[in-house]
Amino acid sequence: TCGICVEKCPFDAIEIINLPTELQEDPVHRYGENAFALYGLPVPESGAVTGILGPNGIGKTTAVRALAGEMVPNLGTYDEEATWEAVLERYRGTELQNYIERVREEKVSIARKPQYVDQIPKQFDGVTSELLEATDERGKLDEYVERLGIAPVVDQPLDTLSGGELQRVALAATLARDRDFYFLDEITPYLDIGQRVTAARLIRELAEEEDKAVLAVEHDLAILDLLADTLHIAYGEPGAYGVITDPKSVRNGINEYLKGYLSNENMRIRPDEIQFHQHAPRETTKSDPLVDYPDLSKSYGDGEFSLDVEGGTIYHSEVLGIVGPNGIGKSTLAQMFAGSLEPDEGELDYRLDIAYKPQYIDIDQPMRVDAFLSSITEDFGTSYWKTEVANPLQLGRIMERNLDDLSGGERQRVAIAACLSEDADLFVLDEPSAHLDVEQRVQATTAIRRYAENHDATVMVIDHDIYMIDLLADRLMVFDGEPSVHGHAGTPQEMRAGMNDFLSDLDITFRRDERTQRPRINKPGSQLDSKQKRSGEYYYST
Ligand code: ADP
Ligand code: ADP
Repeated sequence: TCGICVEKCPFDAIEIINLPTELQEDPVHRYGENAFALYGLPVPESGAVTGILGPNGIGKTTAVRALAGEMVPNLGTYDEEATWEAVLERYRGTELQNYIERVREEKVSIARKPQYVDQIPKQFDGVTSELLEATDERGKLDEYVERLGIAPVVDQPLDTLSGGELQRVALAATLARDRDFYFLDEITPYLDIGQRVTAARLIRELAEEEDKAVLAVEHDLAILDLLADTLHIAYGEPGAYGVITDPKSVRNGINEYLKGYLSNENMRIRPDEIQFHQHAPRETTKSDPLVDYPDLSKSYGDGEFSLDVEGGTIYHSEVLGIVGPNGIGKSTLAQMFAGSLEPDEGELDYRLDIAYKPQYIDIDQPMRVDAFLSSITEDFGTSYWKTEVANPLQLGRIMERNLDDLSGGERQRVAIAACLSEDADLFVLDEPSAHLDVEQRVQATTAIRRYAENHDATVMVIDHDIYMIDLLADRLMVFDGEPSVHGHAGTPQEMRAGMNDFLSDLDITFRRDERTQRPRINKPGSQLDSKQKRSGEYYYST
């Protein structure tokens, strides 16, 4: 190892044997001898959204506590009393000087949206409107409630809200405040693409129209691209040290991140580049069908919600991406395939063994991760299972922890592993990206794809992260309709036709970054946006 990492170097050690220049200086903060150290701080800027991109456990919360004035960073001198004078001295003449002067004079107020919205009902007991009303400091609450579509739930107790509803309530409650500095720790988990784009627009308006400083951590790269004006990349060794780079342009920052190499810092953060294809994948020769299913329909109660499904075929060892808004019937269809829900019309005359990872993971038990996973598969602990499941999902370090003290991202990885470890015909993963940091998304994508290829396994992935769907799916099933009222599921299609269907419904087009071919959301009404809409190419170029 190079002497920094606690465990074996996750990259080619050669690359980081020379200490990056950042690490040759004193850190901004160190929690104690041999404890976590943070290098670099993000620069909040009035009138702008500053993004942070990088793994969890790398010091983002530490940095925000310093910028909010809740903690005086000790500049590495953890045994002496830390003072703002010393911090100011360090940052004199830099972009942070003014900001730090204001923090020292206690002139910076902050509003923050927590990362794990599922925890909110545990901290706040009551009806949604009570929580929201207390935050209406700029008279904007009603507009936020309306634009985020949460009016139907304001009279409900918070503990009856779904994760997607809580996410939007938390966002409205944070943006409605009148503060100098807003910190948003992940805005996209549990939101569908339409809701993600709306959230990004509201945040941009807050910064631009009210001249506020917003700092946002986001792992959905298409949304981060839309949201931020400048970007800091965070890298390091989770739990050991974290480096927050100087600001980059968003386009460059994301491109460098995908490349795995930061130019200014001369730093490799990943061995391989992540690549997107500008053109739709060629139609593959289909293997054997796993199932042919007829047209199906299902409604709940007195027809409050109804779903129509166009019949189709799912093939062996394909990864079928499933896209569509929340509340449109995706889980309902998964349950019908699993045999736990009978269709009203149409018959499924076979029983598929389905392994299902739900969107909201409920595995809070005082049981160790290794005990839980070994109760699912006999392969647990074999070198084959480690290579195919545990390692790509980075479970090594958390095997001895209890399920009920895992973070959201850790719980997600255990749940994906549990699903893939089952003996099943069809694996259904509902929003595997939720709470995974961007690096873990890349690893989970690789793990799921490899698993499908090596095990002749058929996988259905429901997700709202368009980059993850692009990297994972062979074909697409598109849901449309009116959420909570009526849903329609189309037959599985090739990627190009599926993306066009899905995105035309959302009225969103993507262009390609010239350098990396990564998809970027077009500005609505821009020349490219109109041109692509006219030619019907919403995602791939011809
Ligand atoms: P992030 O927000 O990026 O997930 P944090 O800033 O919360 O990261 O934490 C970074 C690291 O610092 C973690 O390894 C965490 O365990 C450690 N850490 C956080 N607070 C303390 C503390 N008060 N004392 C010692 N270590 C801490
Ligand atoms: P998605 O997975 O696309 O978010 P779901 O299939 O979970 O959608 O739900 C579709 C609609 O059906 C939602 O309006 C939901 O509230 C409703 N719904 C789901 N399950 C039930 C049920 N058991 N009884 C009544 N309504 C339900």
